[in-house]
Amino acid sequence: MADQQGDRTRVDLLLAGGWLLTMNPRREVYRHGAVAVLGSKIVDVGQASDLLGRYDPGRLVDTSQMVVTPGLVNGHRHLLCCPKGAMPEGGQTLQALRDFIYPCFATLNEDQMHAYALHATAEMIRFGTTTFEEPGCNHLEAVLDALASSGIRCRTGPWTWDQRGSAGATDLPDWLRTDADQALERLRKGIETVRAFNSPLISDAVTIEGVGTCSDELTLGAAKLAEEADSLFVLHKATSEREVAMELEVFGERPLQHMHSIGALNDHVLLNHMTSLDDFEVGLVADSGARISQNPSSALKLAKGTTQTGKWPELVAASVPLALGTDAENVSNHQDICRSMQLAALLPRDARRDANAVTAEQAVEMATIGGATALRLDAVTGSLEAGKEADLTCFDTNDFDWRPLHNPVTNLVYGTTGHSVHTVVVAGEILLDAKRLTRVDEQALREEIEKIDLEILTAIGIDPKPAWPVL
Ligand SMILES: [Zn+2]
Repeated sequence: MADQQGDRTRVDLLLAGGWLLTMNPRREVYRHGAVAVLGSKIVDVGQASDLLGRYDPGRLVDTSQMVVTPGLVNGHRHLLCCPKGAMPEGGQTLQALRDFIYPCFATLNEDQMHAYALHATAEMIRFGTTTFEEPGCNHLEAVLDALASSGIRCRTGPWTWDQRGSAGATDLPDWLRTDADQALERLRKGIETVRAFNSPLISDAVTIEGVGTCSDELTLGAAKLAEEADSLFVLHKATSEREVAMELEVFGERPLQHMHSIGALNDHVLLNHMTSLDDFEVGLVADSGARISQNPSSALKLAKGTTQTGKWPELVAASVPLALGTDAENVSNHQDICRSMQLAALLPRDARRDANAVTAEQAVEMATIGGATALRLDAVTGSLEAGKEADLTCFDTNDFDWRPLHNPVTNLVYGTTGHSVHTVVVAGEILLDAKRLTRVDEQALREEIEKIDLEILTAIGIDPKPAWPVL
Protein backbone atom coordinates (compact mmCIF):
# COMPACT_ATOMS: atom_id res chain seq x y z
CA MET A 1 0.00 0.00 0.00
CA ALA A 2 1.12 3.53 -0.69
CA ASP A 3 1.80 5.49 2.46
CA GLN A 4 2.34 9.18 2.98
CA GLN A 5 5.83 10.62 3.60
CA GLY A 6 5.16 14.19 4.59
CA ASP A 7 2.93 15.49 1.86
CA ARG A 8 4.30 13.05 -0.73
CA THR A 9 3.04 9.51 -1.38
CA ARG A 10 5.55 6.71 -1.21
CA VAL A 11 6.02 4.70 -4.43
CA ASP A 12 8.63 2.12 -5.41
CA LEU A 13 9.75 3.64 -8.68
CA LEU A 14 9.37 6.96 -10.46
CA LEU A 15 10.59 7.48 -14.02
CA ALA A 16 10.48 11.17 -14.80
CA GLY A 17 11.82 13.83 -17.10
CA GLY A 18 11.56 13.21 -20.83
CA TRP A 19 9.39 12.18 -23.76
CA LEU A 20 6.73 9.63 -22.88
CA LEU A 21 4.41 7.84 -25.30
CA THR A 22 1.45 6.60 -23.26
CA MET A 23 -0.36 4.69 -26.06
CA ASN A 24 -3.53 5.28 -24.02
CA PRO A 25 -6.83 5.48 -25.96
CA ARG A 26 -6.14 9.18 -26.75
CA ARG A 27 -2.51 8.33 -27.62
CA GLU A 28 -1.29 11.17 -25.38
CA VAL A 29 2.41 12.08 -25.56
CA TYR A 30 4.20 13.98 -22.79
CA ARG A 31 7.20 16.15 -23.61
CA HIS A 32 8.25 16.02 -19.95
CA GLY A 33 6.42 12.97 -18.64
CA ALA A 34 6.54 10.65 -15.66
CA VAL A 35 5.28 7.25 -14.55
CA ALA A 36 4.86 6.25 -10.89
CA VAL A 37 5.04 2.55 -10.00
CA LEU A 38 4.00 0.74 -6.84
CA GLY A 39 4.62 -2.99 -6.68
CA SER A 40 3.91 -4.40 -10.14
CA LYS A 41 1.46 -1.65 -11.16
CA ILE A 42 1.46 1.81 -12.66
CA VAL A 43 -0.27 4.11 -10.17
CA ASP A 44 0.05 7.42 -12.03
CA VAL A 45 1.08 8.90 -15.38
CA GLY A 46 1.43 12.62 -15.98
CA GLN A 47 3.65 15.68 -16.14
CA ALA A 48 7.07 15.12 -14.54
CA SER A 49 6.80 18.31 -12.49
CA ASP A 50 3.45 17.15 -11.00
CA LEU A 51 4.53 13.62 -10.20
CA LEU A 52 7.92 14.68 -8.76
CA GLY A 53 6.01 16.89 -6.32
CA ARG A 54 3.42 14.26 -5.49
CA TYR A 55 5.51 11.08 -5.01
CA ASP A 56 8.42 10.00 -2.86
CA PRO A 57 10.06 7.17 -4.85
CA GLY A 58 12.22 4.32 -3.55
CA ARG A 59 14.14 4.78 -6.80
CA LEU A 60 14.02 7.72 -9.18
CA VAL A 61 15.04 7.13 -12.82
CA ASP A 62 15.86 10.38 -14.60
CA THR A 63 14.42 10.01 -18.11
CA SER A 64 15.15 13.56 -19.26
CA GLN A 65 17.49 12.16 -21.94
CA MET A 66 15.22 9.22 -22.79
CA VAL A 67 12.07 8.32 -24.67
CA VAL A 68 9.79 6.12 -22.56
CA THR A 69 7.30 3.79 -24.23
CA PRO A 70 5.13 0.91 -23.06
CA GLY A 71 7.19 -2.28 -22.96
CA LEU A 72 7.49 -3.64 -26.50
CA VAL A 73 5.53 -6.75 -27.46
CA ASN A 74 6.91 -9.54 -29.65
CA GLY A 75 3.94 -11.42 -31.12
CA HIS A 76 5.89 -14.41 -32.42
CA ARG A 77 9.16 -15.65 -31.01
CA HIS A 78 10.12 -19.31 -30.71
CA LEU A 79 12.07 -20.50 -27.71
CA LEU A 80 12.70 -23.77 -29.49
CA CYS A 81 15.94 -22.48 -30.95
CA CYS A 82 18.64 -23.62 -33.31
CA PRO A 83 22.19 -22.38 -33.71
CA LYS A 84 21.87 -18.80 -34.92
CA GLY A 85 23.43 -18.10 -38.30
CA ALA A 86 24.09 -21.78 -38.96
CA MET A 87 21.04 -22.49 -41.14
CA PRO A 88 22.12 -23.16 -44.72
CA GLU A 89 21.41 -20.14 -46.89
CA GLY A 90 18.86 -20.14 -49.67
CA GLY A 91 16.12 -22.46 -48.38
CA GLN A 92 12.52 -21.28 -48.42
CA THR A 93 10.14 -21.99 -45.53
CA LEU A 94 9.17 -25.63 -46.02
CA GLN A 95 12.66 -26.69 -47.09
CA ALA A 96 14.36 -24.82 -44.24
CA LEU A 97 11.99 -26.39 -41.72
CA ARG A 98 12.60 -29.93 -42.91
CA ASP A 99 16.34 -29.73 -43.56
CA PHE A 100 17.51 -27.74 -40.56
CA ILE A 101 14.94 -26.44 -38.10
CA TYR A 102 12.96 -29.62 -37.26
CA PRO A 103 16.11 -31.77 -36.90
CA CYS A 104 17.50 -29.17 -34.46
CA PHE A 105 14.28 -29.12 -32.44
CA ALA A 106 14.22 -32.91 -32.29
CA THR A 107 17.67 -33.10 -30.70
CA LEU A 108 17.13 -30.54 -27.92
CA ASN A 109 17.18 -31.99 -24.42
CA GLU A 110 15.66 -30.36 -21.35
CA ASP A 111 18.82 -28.59 -20.20
CA GLN A 112 19.54 -27.23 -23.69
CA MET A 113 15.95 -26.03 -24.02
CA HIS A 114 16.27 -24.25 -20.66
CA ALA A 115 19.48 -22.52 -21.73
CA TYR A 116 18.03 -21.44 -25.10
CA ALA A 117 14.94 -20.06 -23.37
CA LEU A 118 17.10 -18.05 -20.97
CA HIS A 119 19.26 -16.75 -23.81
CA ALA A 120 16.33 -15.78 -26.05
CA THR A 121 14.51 -13.96 -23.26
CA ALA A 122 17.73 -12.18 -22.25
CA GLU A 123 18.14 -10.98 -25.84
CA MET A 124 14.53 -9.83 -26.01
CA ILE A 125 14.81 -7.85 -22.78
CA ARG A 126 18.10 -6.27 -23.95
CA PHE A 127 16.27 -4.99 -27.04
CA GLY A 128 13.25 -3.67 -25.17
CA THR A 129 10.69 -6.48 -25.31
CA THR A 130 8.71 -7.02 -22.12
CA THR A 131 6.00 -9.40 -23.40
CA PHE A 132 6.10 -12.09 -26.05
CA GLU A 133 4.16 -14.99 -27.50
CA GLU A 134 5.97 -18.30 -27.68
CA PRO A 135 4.25 -20.38 -30.38
CA GLY A 136 5.02 -23.85 -29.06
CA CYS A 137 8.06 -25.18 -27.21
CA ASN A 138 9.26 -28.56 -26.03
CA HIS A 139 10.16 -29.45 -22.42
CA LEU A 140 7.53 -26.98 -21.20
CA GLU A 141 8.49 -27.27 -17.51
CA ALA A 142 12.09 -26.28 -18.29
CA VAL A 143 10.83 -23.34 -20.33
CA LEU A 144 8.56 -22.16 -17.52
CA ASP A 145 11.49 -22.29 -15.12
CA ALA A 146 13.64 -20.24 -17.53
CA LEU A 147 10.84 -17.70 -18.07
CA ALA A 148 10.43 -17.25 -14.32
CA SER A 149 14.21 -16.73 -14.02
CA SER A 150 14.21 -14.13 -16.77
CA GLY A 151 11.32 -12.05 -15.38
CA ILE A 152 9.76 -11.45 -18.83
CA ARG A 153 6.00 -11.65 -19.54
CA CYS A 154 4.97 -14.46 -21.87
CA ARG A 155 2.24 -16.62 -23.35
CA THR A 156 3.31 -20.16 -24.16
CA GLY A 157 2.27 -23.75 -24.77
CA PRO A 158 3.75 -27.03 -26.05
CA TRP A 159 4.85 -27.61 -29.66
CA THR A 160 2.08 -29.76 -31.13
CA TRP A 161 1.24 -31.34 -34.48
CA ASP A 162 -0.13 -34.64 -35.72
CA GLN A 163 1.71 -34.58 -39.07
CA ARG A 164 -1.57 -35.36 -40.84
CA GLY A 165 -2.12 -32.05 -42.59
CA SER A 166 -2.11 -31.04 -46.24
CA ALA A 167 1.70 -31.33 -46.51
CA GLY A 168 1.77 -34.98 -45.44
CA ALA A 169 4.47 -36.43 -43.19
CA THR A 170 7.22 -36.88 -45.79
CA ASP A 171 10.63 -35.65 -44.52
CA LEU A 172 9.22 -34.83 -41.07
CA PRO A 173 11.10 -36.21 -38.05
CA ASP A 174 9.51 -38.87 -35.81
CA TRP A 175 9.80 -36.27 -33.07
CA LEU A 176 6.42 -35.74 -31.33
CA ARG A 177 4.55 -37.57 -34.08
CA THR A 178 1.10 -38.40 -32.71
CA ASP A 179 -2.60 -38.50 -33.62
CA ALA A 180 -5.20 -35.77 -33.18
CA ASP A 181 -6.56 -37.10 -29.88
CA GLN A 182 -3.12 -37.40 -28.31
CA ALA A 183 -2.16 -33.99 -29.66
CA LEU A 184 -5.26 -32.41 -28.10
CA GLU A 185 -4.41 -34.12 -24.82
CA ARG A 186 -0.90 -32.62 -25.01
CA LEU A 187 -2.48 -29.17 -25.50
CA ARG A 188 -4.85 -29.66 -22.54
CA LYS A 189 -1.92 -30.75 -20.37
CA GLY A 190 0.00 -27.69 -21.55
CA ILE A 191 -2.71 -25.37 -20.23
CA GLU A 192 -2.80 -27.29 -16.94
CA THR A 193 0.99 -27.15 -16.60
CA VAL A 194 1.19 -23.40 -17.23
CA ARG A 195 -1.71 -22.67 -14.87
CA ALA A 196 -0.27 -24.92 -12.14
CA PHE A 197 3.06 -23.08 -12.44
CA ASN A 198 1.05 -20.10 -11.25
CA SER A 199 3.26 -17.23 -12.33
CA PRO A 200 1.44 -13.91 -12.72
CA LEU A 201 3.68 -13.18 -15.73
CA ILE A 202 3.06 -16.40 -17.68
CA SER A 203 -0.19 -17.16 -19.52
CA ASP A 204 -1.15 -20.29 -21.42
CA ALA A 205 -1.65 -20.75 -25.14
CA VAL A 206 -3.00 -23.56 -27.34
CA THR A 207 -0.12 -23.91 -29.75
CA ILE A 208 -0.13 -26.00 -32.92
CA GLU A 209 2.37 -25.74 -35.74
CA GLY A 210 -0.06 -25.41 -38.60
CA VAL A 211 1.87 -25.05 -41.88
CA GLY A 212 0.29 -28.09 -43.49
CA THR A 213 1.32 -30.35 -40.58
CA CYS A 214 -1.95 -30.49 -38.62
CA SER A 215 -5.19 -32.30 -39.49
CA ASP A 216 -8.50 -30.44 -39.62
CA GLU A 217 -9.56 -32.47 -36.59
CA LEU A 218 -6.62 -31.14 -34.57
CA THR A 219 -7.03 -27.57 -35.84
CA LEU A 220 -10.73 -27.44 -34.97
CA GLY A 221 -10.22 -29.21 -31.64
CA ALA A 222 -7.48 -26.75 -30.69
CA ALA A 223 -9.66 -23.77 -31.65
CA LYS A 224 -12.49 -25.06 -29.45
CA LEU A 225 -10.12 -25.81 -26.57
CA ALA A 226 -8.76 -22.24 -26.61
CA GLU A 227 -12.27 -20.80 -26.55
CA GLU A 228 -13.43 -23.09 -23.72
CA ALA A 229 -10.32 -22.40 -21.65
CA ASP A 230 -10.36 -18.67 -22.49
CA SER A 231 -6.81 -19.04 -23.79
CA LEU A 232 -5.23 -18.11 -27.14
CA PHE A 233 -5.08 -20.48 -30.13
CA VAL A 234 -1.75 -19.87 -31.87
CA LEU A 235 -0.72 -21.31 -35.24
CA HIS A 236 1.22 -20.52 -38.40
CA LYS A 237 -1.12 -19.78 -41.30
CA ALA A 238 -1.09 -18.50 -44.89
CA THR A 239 2.69 -18.27 -44.71
CA SER A 240 3.53 -18.45 -48.41
CA GLU A 241 2.18 -18.94 -51.92
CA ARG A 242 3.51 -22.49 -51.75
CA GLU A 243 1.30 -23.26 -48.73
CA VAL A 244 -1.65 -21.69 -50.56
CA ALA A 245 -1.05 -23.87 -53.63
CA MET A 246 -0.77 -26.97 -51.45
CA GLU A 247 -4.08 -26.35 -49.67
CA LEU A 248 -5.87 -25.37 -52.86
CA GLU A 249 -4.83 -28.72 -54.29
CA VAL A 250 -5.88 -30.76 -51.23
CA PHE A 251 -8.94 -28.83 -50.02
CA GLY A 252 -9.92 -26.65 -52.97
CA GLU A 253 -9.62 -23.69 -50.58
CA ARG A 254 -6.93 -21.25 -49.50
CA PRO A 255 -5.45 -21.84 -45.97
CA LEU A 256 -7.29 -19.04 -44.16
CA GLN A 257 -10.48 -19.72 -46.12
CA HIS A 258 -10.27 -23.40 -45.20
CA MET A 259 -9.74 -22.60 -41.53
CA HIS A 260 -12.89 -20.51 -41.68
CA SER A 261 -14.81 -23.26 -43.50
CA ILE A 262 -14.10 -25.84 -40.81
CA GLY A 263 -15.18 -23.41 -38.06
CA ALA A 264 -11.75 -22.82 -36.52
CA LEU A 265 -11.59 -19.03 -36.91
CA ASN A 266 -12.71 -16.94 -33.93
CA ASP A 267 -11.60 -14.13 -31.63
CA HIS A 268 -9.38 -16.46 -29.55
CA VAL A 269 -7.09 -17.11 -32.53
CA LEU A 270 -3.64 -15.61 -33.19
CA LEU A 271 -2.53 -16.28 -36.77
CA ASN A 272 1.20 -16.06 -37.43
CA HIS A 273 2.63 -14.74 -40.70
CA MET A 274 -0.46 -14.34 -42.94
CA THR A 275 1.73 -13.16 -45.79
CA SER A 276 -0.48 -14.65 -48.49
CA LEU A 277 -4.08 -13.44 -48.41
CA ASP A 278 -6.83 -12.63 -50.86
CA ASP A 279 -9.00 -9.55 -50.33
CA PHE A 280 -12.01 -11.63 -49.28
CA GLU A 281 -9.91 -13.29 -46.56
CA VAL A 282 -9.26 -9.91 -44.91
CA GLY A 283 -13.03 -9.76 -44.33
CA LEU A 284 -13.06 -13.28 -42.89
CA VAL A 285 -10.34 -12.36 -40.38
CA ALA A 286 -11.96 -9.04 -39.43
CA ASP A 287 -15.45 -10.55 -39.02
CA SER A 288 -14.14 -13.40 -36.86
CA GLY A 289 -12.24 -11.10 -34.47
CA ALA A 290 -9.06 -13.13 -35.04
CA ARG A 291 -5.65 -11.57 -34.39
CA ILE A 292 -2.43 -11.61 -36.38
CA SER A 293 1.30 -11.44 -35.78
CA GLN A 294 3.21 -10.29 -38.83
CA ASN A 295 6.92 -11.08 -38.88
CA PRO A 296 8.38 -8.84 -41.56
CA SER A 297 12.09 -9.70 -41.31
CA SER A 298 11.25 -13.41 -41.27
CA ALA A 299 9.01 -12.95 -44.31
CA LEU A 300 11.83 -11.21 -46.17
CA LYS A 301 14.54 -13.72 -45.27
CA LEU A 302 12.38 -16.71 -46.24
CA ALA A 303 11.10 -14.99 -49.40
CA LYS A 304 7.46 -15.36 -48.35
CA GLY A 305 6.23 -12.63 -50.71
CA THR A 306 4.86 -10.31 -48.03
CA THR A 307 5.17 -7.26 -50.31
CA GLN A 308 3.42 -9.11 -53.16
CA THR A 309 0.62 -10.99 -51.42
CA GLY A 310 0.42 -9.34 -47.97
CA LYS A 311 -2.67 -7.28 -47.11
CA TRP A 312 -1.21 -5.17 -44.31
CA PRO A 313 -2.87 -1.82 -45.14
CA GLU A 314 -6.20 -3.58 -45.58
CA LEU A 315 -5.83 -5.44 -42.26
CA VAL A 316 -4.96 -2.16 -40.50
CA ALA A 317 -7.97 -0.46 -42.12
CA ALA A 318 -10.20 -3.35 -40.99
CA SER A 319 -8.98 -2.84 -37.37
CA VAL A 320 -7.61 -6.37 -37.08
CA PRO A 321 -5.38 -6.52 -33.97
CA LEU A 322 -1.81 -6.72 -35.30
CA ALA A 323 1.36 -7.65 -33.46
CA LEU A 324 4.94 -7.63 -34.70
CA GLY A 325 7.13 -10.68 -34.30
CA THR A 326 10.64 -11.83 -35.05
CA ASP A 327 9.89 -15.56 -35.33
CA ALA A 328 12.60 -18.18 -34.85
CA GLU A 329 16.34 -17.92 -34.35
CA ASN A 330 17.41 -18.28 -37.99
CA VAL A 331 14.61 -16.58 -39.85
CA SER A 332 15.12 -13.11 -38.40
CA ASN A 333 18.51 -13.61 -36.70
CA HIS A 334 17.53 -10.76 -34.38
CA GLN A 335 14.90 -10.01 -31.77
CA ASP A 336 14.67 -6.29 -32.27
CA ILE A 337 11.10 -5.02 -32.49
CA CYS A 338 12.44 -1.60 -33.58
CA ARG A 339 13.65 -3.23 -36.78
CA SER A 340 10.26 -4.93 -37.16
CA MET A 341 8.51 -1.56 -36.74
CA GLN A 342 10.62 -0.02 -39.47
CA LEU A 343 9.86 -2.83 -41.90
CA ALA A 344 6.14 -2.90 -40.99
CA ALA A 345 5.91 0.81 -41.78
CA LEU A 346 8.01 0.81 -44.93
CA LEU A 347 7.43 -2.43 -46.86
CA PRO A 348 3.72 -1.76 -47.59
CA ARG A 349 4.57 1.74 -48.87
CA ASP A 350 6.87 0.39 -51.52
CA ALA A 351 4.52 -2.49 -52.29
CA ARG A 352 1.64 -0.08 -52.95
CA ARG A 353 3.64 2.95 -54.10
CA ASP A 354 1.74 4.78 -51.34
CA ALA A 355 3.68 6.71 -48.66
CA ASN A 356 0.63 6.51 -46.37
CA ALA A 357 0.04 2.75 -46.70
CA VAL A 358 1.11 2.16 -43.08
CA THR A 359 2.08 5.10 -40.86
CA ALA A 360 4.82 5.40 -38.24
CA GLU A 361 2.09 5.73 -35.60
CA GLN A 362 0.45 2.50 -36.75
CA ALA A 363 3.81 0.70 -36.52
CA VAL A 364 4.26 1.88 -32.91
CA GLU A 365 0.72 0.69 -32.15
CA MET A 366 1.62 -2.78 -33.48
CA ALA A 367 4.70 -2.89 -31.24
CA THR A 368 2.77 -1.89 -28.11
CA ILE A 369 -1.00 -1.81 -27.53
CA GLY A 370 -1.82 -3.57 -30.81
CA GLY A 371 0.56 -6.39 -29.97
CA ALA A 372 -0.88 -6.70 -26.47
CA THR A 373 -4.39 -6.86 -27.98
CA ALA A 374 -3.29 -9.51 -30.47
CA LEU A 375 -2.06 -11.59 -27.52
CA ARG A 376 -5.29 -10.94 -25.55
CA LEU A 377 -3.18 -9.21 -22.89
CA ASP A 378 -4.32 -5.62 -23.48
CA ALA A 379 -6.06 -5.44 -20.10
CA VAL A 380 -2.66 -6.05 -18.52
CA THR A 381 -0.01 -4.36 -20.67
CA GLY A 382 0.63 -2.45 -23.94
CA SER A 383 0.03 1.11 -22.68
CA LEU A 384 1.14 3.37 -19.84
CA GLU A 385 -2.02 3.92 -17.80
CA ALA A 386 -2.76 3.83 -14.08
CA GLY A 387 -3.93 0.35 -13.09
CA LYS A 388 -1.96 -1.51 -15.74
CA GLU A 389 1.14 -3.56 -15.05
CA ALA A 390 4.33 -1.49 -15.02
CA ASP A 391 5.96 -2.72 -18.26
CA LEU A 392 8.16 0.02 -19.74
CA THR A 393 10.96 0.46 -22.24
CA CYS A 394 13.26 3.50 -22.03
CA PHE A 395 15.44 4.49 -25.00
CA ASP A 396 18.67 6.39 -24.47
CA THR A 397 18.55 9.36 -26.85
CA ASN A 398 22.14 10.50 -26.26
CA ASP A 399 23.44 9.22 -29.58
CA PHE A 400 23.39 10.18 -33.24
CA ASP A 401 20.52 7.86 -34.18
CA TRP A 402 18.11 9.72 -31.87
CA ARG A 403 19.27 13.31 -32.51
CA PRO A 404 18.03 15.85 -33.34
CA LEU A 405 14.85 14.83 -31.54
CA HIS A 406 11.67 16.66 -32.51
CA ASN A 407 9.25 13.79 -32.96
CA PRO A 408 9.95 10.64 -30.90
CA VAL A 409 7.57 8.55 -33.03
CA THR A 410 9.40 9.10 -36.31
CA ASN A 411 12.84 8.77 -34.68
CA LEU A 412 11.74 5.52 -33.03
CA VAL A 413 10.33 3.93 -36.19
CA TYR A 414 12.78 5.11 -38.84
CA GLY A 415 15.96 6.08 -37.04
CA THR A 416 16.94 3.80 -34.20
CA THR A 417 17.36 0.17 -33.19
CA GLY A 418 16.90 -1.71 -29.94
CA HIS A 419 20.58 -1.10 -29.18
CA SER A 420 19.49 2.26 -27.80
CA VAL A 421 17.28 0.63 -25.15
CA HIS A 422 18.66 1.74 -21.78
CA THR A 423 16.16 0.59 -19.13
CA VAL A 424 13.48 -2.10 -19.18
CA VAL A 425 10.87 -2.63 -16.48
CA VAL A 426 8.51 -5.61 -16.26
CA ALA A 427 5.83 -5.72 -13.57
CA GLY A 428 7.65 -2.97 -11.69
CA GLU A 429 11.04 -4.72 -11.68
CA ILE A 430 14.03 -3.26 -13.53
CA LEU A 431 15.34 -6.10 -15.74
CA LEU A 432 17.69 -3.93 -17.81
CA ASP A 433 19.58 -1.13 -16.08
CA ALA A 434 21.94 1.12 -18.06
CA LYS A 435 21.95 -1.49 -20.88
CA ARG A 436 22.96 -4.35 -18.55
CA LEU A 437 20.69 -7.26 -17.60
CA THR A 438 20.04 -7.30 -13.86
CA ARG A 439 19.15 -10.99 -13.47
CA VAL A 440 21.53 -12.67 -15.89
CA ASP A 441 25.28 -13.28 -16.11
CA GLU A 442 25.49 -12.30 -19.79
CA GLN A 443 28.98 -13.66 -20.47
CA ALA A 444 28.32 -17.05 -18.85
CA LEU A 445 25.09 -17.38 -20.82
CA ARG A 446 26.85 -16.61 -24.12
CA GLU A 447 29.52 -19.20 -23.43
CA GLU A 448 26.91 -21.82 -22.58
CA ILE A 449 24.96 -21.19 -25.80
CA GLU A 450 28.08 -21.46 -27.97
CA LYS A 451 28.75 -24.85 -26.38
CA ILE A 452 25.16 -26.09 -26.88
CA ASP A 453 25.14 -24.89 -30.49
CA LEU A 454 28.18 -27.06 -31.24
CA GLU A 455 26.52 -30.10 -29.61
CA ILE A 456 23.43 -29.64 -31.77
CA LEU A 457 25.30 -28.97 -35.01
CA THR A 458 27.34 -32.12 -34.42
CA ALA A 459 24.14 -34.10 -33.76
CA ILE A 460 22.49 -32.99 -37.02
CA GLY A 461 25.70 -33.12 -39.06
CA ILE A 462 25.98 -29.49 -40.12
CA ASP A 463 29.27 -27.59 -40.11
CA PRO A 464 28.33 -23.96 -40.76
CA LYS A 465 30.99 -22.00 -42.59
CA PRO A 466 31.00 -18.76 -44.55
CA ALA A 467 30.73 -19.27 -48.32
CA TRP A 468 34.19 -17.68 -48.62
CA PRO A 469 37.48 -19.47 -47.76
CA VAL A 470 38.28 -19.36 -44.06
CA LEU A 471 42.03 -19.12 -43.46
ZN1 LIG B 1 7.08 -19.46 -36.20
